[in-house]
Amino acid sequence: MSQSVTSCLCGSVKITAEEVNPKFTVCHCQSCRTWGGAPFFAVQCGTKVQVEGEDKVKIYESSAWASRGFCSECGTHLFFKFKGSGEYNMPVGLFPSLPELTMDIQFFSDLRPSYYCFSNETKEMTTAEIMALYAPKI
Ligand SMILES: [Zn+2]
Ligand SMILES: [Zn+2]
Repeated sequence: MSQSVTSCLCGSVKITAEEVNPKFTVCHCQSCRTWGGAPFFAVQCGTKVQVEGEDKVKIYESSAWASRGFCSECGTHLFFKFKGSGEYNMPVGLFPSLPELTMDIQFFSDLRPSYYCFSNETKEMTTAEIMALYAPKI
């Protein structure tokens, strides 16, 4: 875990995350691929996150359990936030100099389309495995 400071492309929004896990996750679900045009590479940042320039952050309620935030000036994707726990997942690209970045797990591996694949050796979870693990808590 290490502290990281970053900002969106235009600089309107600054983010300080106290605890960023360098083992990042990949999500192949259709929502993530529609949002970003590609799988979502995310670092888990917990709840100790400060956002400056919040008036420029547009929040989209993407599901019953999470919302997605982006800069209303430049469109930079800022976070995926769980409503229940308040935990943030943020794009790994916001933290390019984080030490020891490692692709750890691929979520919704069964939804990964056939037109790309990664050679990284990672854990994987299918939709059924994710539902079995998380559905009771939602
Ligand atoms: Zn911006
Ligand atoms: Zn997803």
